Amino acid sequence: MSTSTPALVVDQPGGPFVARTVERRALRDDDVAIAISHAGICHSDIHQVREEWGRAIFPMVPGHEIAGVVTEIGAAVTDVRVGDRVGVGCMVNSCGECAMCKDGFEQHCERGAVMTYNGRDYDGVVTLGGYSRSVVVGERFVCPIPEGISSAEAAPLLCAGITTYSPLRRWGVGPGSRVGVLGLGGLGHMGVKFAAAMGAEVTVFSRTSAKAADALALGASRHVATSDPDALRPLRNHFDVLLNTVSADLDMNAHLRTVRPRGVMVNVGLPGGDYGVRPSMLVGNSRVLAGSNIGGIAETREMLEFAAAHGLGASVEVIDADDVADAYDRVVAGDVRYRYVIDVSTIEA
Ligand code: NAP
Ligand code: ZN
Repeated sequence: MSTSTPALVVDQPGGPFVARTVERRALRDDDVAIAISHAGICHSDIHQVREEWGRAIFPMVPGHEIAGVVTEIGAAVTDVRVGDRVGVGCMVNSCGECAMCKDGFEQHCERGAVMTYNGRDYDGVVTLGGYSRSVVVGERFVCPIPEGISSAEAAPLLCAGITTYSPLRRWGVGPGSRVGVLGLGGLGHMGVKFAAAMGAEVTVFSRTSAKAADALALGASRHVATSDPDALRPLRNHFDVLLNTVSADLDMNAHLRTVRPRGVMVNVGLPGGDYGVRPSMLVGNSRVLAGSNIGGIAETREMLEFAAAHGLGASVEVIDADDVADAYDRVVAGDVRYRYVIDVSTIEA
């Protein structure tokens, strides 16, 4: 039998949020039922609620940074036990058989990974995300939260954490690497923490100097306010890896100039527009322009272990269900230090 659970539901593009019950499927043999305690607010939630990426599926329950406790497991579940603290990120299903899935890149599944919300599972059922009191997810997509990271600080790792950890790893960041992080928001602040923990020298690019002290406290050694038109000049050809987390269009050519010959600018920010890159910016110095989409499940588990080993989680502001609409506006305004996380026990339907 399916179960009803209170959730924050959006019925049309742009909102509002309405607290009411939604249905979660009856437990299958390989399913895990989770009582959600915390759900992070990712800028991707805002893009989708506001249809900034094109048509979305409504009613929608956003939320793909989920932390909670296992309440029930299916008969075939082997690696998760009732009472475990676990997280769920951006995906809840994939074919499990294609080359990408087998290599641990479920996000690039050839059949199409099923997103945690605003998606359709292979049985046709629309997925509903983590702004909710409970969820049922296949065991393959459930990640243990190590001791030492609180659930509130762990929830954002399931998207903001893995989305920044994965490209830093892929592009070989380690001791002595010069890493630039563009935009100090939810993703950006995790990029700084991870790059610093990997031993890199980290520079933060933010629009103003308002977050300068925070950038240094998070592990950066330099903060640059991009509002100063001359600020980028001393950093020409400087970075091994430039991680762009900005949620809006920006002057890519100006930033590419700061990447050293053969270095990489890797983009994770997803504004709706085009990049507008001049080919000479890439060709002249053999620079790489790359993108990165979240990370696979094995790497997500590795990232959680890495975070625990380095004593780091997200820097969060925990809010109630009533504050979510306001939090969206504040995220868009850049007014978040550095992730809003919903205490989902405050969702009452
Ligand atoms: P966020 O918390 O809003 O952070 C984005 C940051 O970008 C802001 O804090 C701000 O930094 C900067 N910014 C915002 N507007 C800007 C503008 N007009 N010009 C220059 N900088 C601006 O958002 P987030 O949750 O980190 O997500 C960032 C982006 O990544 C979103 O587009 C999201 O959809 C995308 N995303 C991608 C993936 C993936 O798998 N690739 C996963 C998750 C999210 P300052 O205040 O420091 O300037
Ligand atoms: Zn996200």
